[in-house]
Amino acid sequence: MRWRDLKAGELRTEHVGERLSLAGWTARRRDHGGLVFIDLRDEGGLAQLVINPERAPAAAEVAHGVRNEFVIRAEGEVAARAPEAVNPSLPTGEVELQVDELEIVSRSEPLPFQLDEENVEEATRLRYRYLDLRRERMQRNLRLSATVVAAIRRYMDELGFVDVWTPNLTKATPEGARDFLVPVRLQPGRFFALPQSPQIFKQILMVAGIGRYYQMATCFRDEDLRADRQFEFRQLDLELSFPTREEVWETLEGAVCASFEALERTPPERPFQRLTWHEAMARYGSDKPDLRFGLELHDLTEETRESEFKVFAQAPSVQYLTVAQELSRAELASLEELAKERGGKGLAYLVFDEEGEVRSPIAKFLSAELIEAVRPEQPGATVLFGADEPATVARVLSAVRNHLGRELGLIDESRDEFLWVTDFPLFDWDEDGERWTFSHHPFTGVRPGDEDLIESDPGRALSQAYDLVWNGWELGSGSIRIHDPELQQHVFAAMGISKEEADERFGFLLEVLRMGAPPHGGFALGLERFVALLAGEQNIREVVAFPKTASGSEPLSGAPTPIAQEILAELGIQVLPETT
Ligand code: ASP
Repeated sequence: MRWRDLKAGELRTEHVGERLSLAGWTARRRDHGGLVFIDLRDEGGLAQLVINPERAPAAAEVAHGVRNEFVIRAEGEVAARAPEAVNPSLPTGEVELQVDELEIVSRSEPLPFQLDEENVEEATRLRYRYLDLRRERMQRNLRLSATVVAAIRRYMDELGFVDVWTPNLTKATPEGARDFLVPVRLQPGRFFALPQSPQIFKQILMVAGIGRYYQMATCFRDEDLRADRQFEFRQLDLELSFPTREEVWETLEGAVCASFEALERTPPERPFQRLTWHEAMARYGSDKPDLRFGLELHDLTEETRESEFKVFAQAPSVQYLTVAQELSRAELASLEELAKERGGKGLAYLVFDEEGEVRSPIAKFLSAELIEAVRPEQPGATVLFGADEPATVARVLSAVRNHLGRELGLIDESRDEFLWVTDFPLFDWDEDGERWTFSHHPFTGVRPGDEDLIESDPGRALSQAYDLVWNGWELGSGSIRIHDPELQQHVFAAMGISKEEADERFGFLLEVLRMGAPPHGGFALGLERFVALLAGEQNIREVVAFPKTASGSEPLSGAPTPIAQEILAELGIQVLPETT
């Protein structure tokens, strides 16, 4: 016996008169006393079953006992619906199956929520994820994800990239997060780390002569979960030998466009726009600016050095942006709140009314010259200032910019703005450790010409790192790498990593670099983030089949769980009492 001859969603008028079987879930049952209608759902869609007690008394008997989400199999004859019963919103809406035999294949307990219910709590959705996944939105998202992954694979294969699997049980790969550690029974007291990325291995593959590598790699990072972060996620991870940055970018642009095409969407224009990190920070205060709207920042540091207004004069950086609207007190208060949330002390403003008159508590402290310097071209506008350390000003004003972009409807939702942000700083200052640390990862190439700055002025050294940004979301990062072991040592040293420590942590890479390393570089594109944006979802959990909750557990299986003493003992592990 075949369970089914067709998928429910494939039923069409061309099948009228045929006898066939369908199998699937009961999406809805309407029992009219006599006639019973069942919407049968499977992965292909919905079809209507009609069970008429006069035609099939036994099937009608079974139909009365069917409940939502029971799995059933029906055999019957495909018939055209009466004109008034046609449902134009369903692809199968012109036909129905007149059932002769009906079988309950599997029953369902009453559901914790109905599949068509909206606003079901996320905890419940994740606890019963298999039910949640039956819903149209989740089915669509998982299928969209598969379409994108398949398109990218085809594209990478065509370009001659070799899919190489790299280990998940490995040594720490520094990407800026904590490691997940795995104890080893055969060597108690020793641990593998799950890879934060296959970074070191893909570099080794270049030295091994693979030339072009890619992988849909699972990465593990122990960091706080957010809308765009999970403990584990996938990357389109790739690496090329002898590349220019442009070649890496072209490869990625092609992968993005192949994904759009696979979804039958107009691909974005190529080449994507480019901004150096310095330009992006100066114009938008962000290394992932949303370019679908303007509202650019302007620098006023020079002009305010002599100002009587000490808040400006004493701030290392003063910047402003101009909104083409007189903002109300309430709006200004909520922006100030936002500024404080982002670490600012406040948010100074000047409102220029329709007559060009200035309204602001700080106006009296500012010279006429300074006011003229920021006076908007059109009256009826508000100038918002950030005055603080440069990083704080950038953080505050970019948050204000994004907020206003959304709230004032400045974002043109029909646009897709892809952007390469290039020439990132090589190092970031680590306040806690009071030392320089890597800004991308420690293997990032130095911008040619900046090698001497590594020692003399690390904060000014630029790297060969680049990020891909889509409508204000960072899709991924990459760089041209260091292939010279001496230079690599040098960079380790600048970050306060001693030679011994470097040998212990990265000795295997240094050795590899000493054995004929070609210039190489690559990129990693966060797949879930990319897919979420393609699916129009704000949260990557909506495109992951079994995600973790914000607190880091997996409600369906109940993981993570405590482990029995004997097993821990075998691994040489003792759990401290307060953490059990
Ligand atoms: N390993 C980097 C990351 O995961 C990507 C790269 O540099 O290719 O962000």
